[in-house]
Amino acid sequence: MKYVAFLIDGMADYPLPELGGKTPVEIAHTPTLDKLAQAAQFGTFVTLPEEFPTSSDVANMSVLGWDLATAYTGRGAIESYGLGVPLDEQTVAFRMNLITVKDDILEDYSAGHISEPEADALIGTLSEKLGTPEIRFKTGVSYRHILYLIGKEFSADVAYDKPDSSHGMRWETILPRAAKPEAEPTAELLRQLVWRSREILEDHPVNVKRRAEGKNPANLIWPWSGGRKPQMPSFEELHGKKGGIISAVDVILGLGLLGGMESLRPEGATGFLDTNYENKAAAAVDLLRRNDFVYVHVEAVDECGHLGDLPNKIKGIEDCDTRLIKVFLDQYRKVHSDKLRVMVLPDHPVPVKLRKHTRDPVPFMVSGEGVSADPALRYYNEATCVAGQYPGLKGRALMNLLFAPTIP
Ligand SMILES: [Zn+2]
Repeated sequence: MKYVAFLIDGMADYPLPELGGKTPVEIAHTPTLDKLAQAAQFGTFVTLPEEFPTSSDVANMSVLGWDLATAYTGRGAIESYGLGVPLDEQTVAFRMNLITVKDDILEDYSAGHISEPEADALIGTLSEKLGTPEIRFKTGVSYRHILYLIGKEFSADVAYDKPDSSHGMRWETILPRAAKPEAEPTAELLRQLVWRSREILEDHPVNVKRRAEGKNPANLIWPWSGGRKPQMPSFEELHGKKGGIISAVDVILGLGLLGGMESLRPEGATGFLDTNYENKAAAAVDLLRRNDFVYVHVEAVDECGHLGDLPNKIKGIEDCDTRLIKVFLDQYRKVHSDKLRVMVLPDHPVPVKLRKHTRDPVPFMVSGEGVSADPALRYYNEATCVAGQYPGLKGRALMNLLFAPTIP
């Protein structure tokens, strides 16, 4: 048997008056999900326990069955692996956004989803002006980059506000601060770097051009979620199955690499609505030639939630249905003779009204070989999953259920 999980980042939502009391998943036209749901079991799963940040790295580690208490260090470390840069014992890696501030307000966590060439030019200038042997910058995808602090004297115990949860905040009041007294010099250095980035970026030619084009300038850096190298068992050690991962974003690919999984960013995978869904489907079919399990992550729907963009959130869910899951299933049947089990879920909700992650347990369905259909529940959505057989699963229970011989 082969296994596939479609992880639609940020898909879950709340009932909305403008949708007649329905959620985006309920309203979206999803014939493929509907068909899978006819032979599925449903439930909810806790991906963001209270004591951890409401971050996608935490949520995806939960889904894949890693023990957060022992394995989680911080997002910067995971993303660094995603960018192909392993960490030594000396280094703390912080995730670093390029963001837009206007006057003293944090306006946009993504600097208008800045392009990679533009971001790379800005990171180049930051490296030139602020870089030292101890302070290094690395360009990632769009607005997502890494700041390395190299030396035993630096600390990862720095408290932060997530930029995508902080729209409208006065940024000067939510700068990095020490979570333990010994982290104060690191927090102070980060604050200085943020302030100096303002001077360097504000009138940078890239931003002059972006303003002229009516786009948000990337006029501040925002370092957050620092971590040292995580210690975690491989996916195969954990589950006894060989696994692969497909995503556009470094944090998910890094998680895969740290877990010894075959990790792939297919051509045209952008992390946004213009992503190449069909290439992701084809890559998933191919990864299953060499693996028992493949995890297909889609970022676009999460981004629409953060933008508060309901029509595009619905469109993203529909594209996942017809351009990714349907294409995958059709191709899988042509290439593979193994039986197949399919799981569908988000890593966390991003309600369009709140525009940030919530800790609500996520709705999941498992469909396919060895799954006895729940006759009372015929569609995949938030409400049916709450009413399903498996409410409030935690820890490894979800992957154990997916890999179980039969699902009653
Ligand atoms: Zn998000």
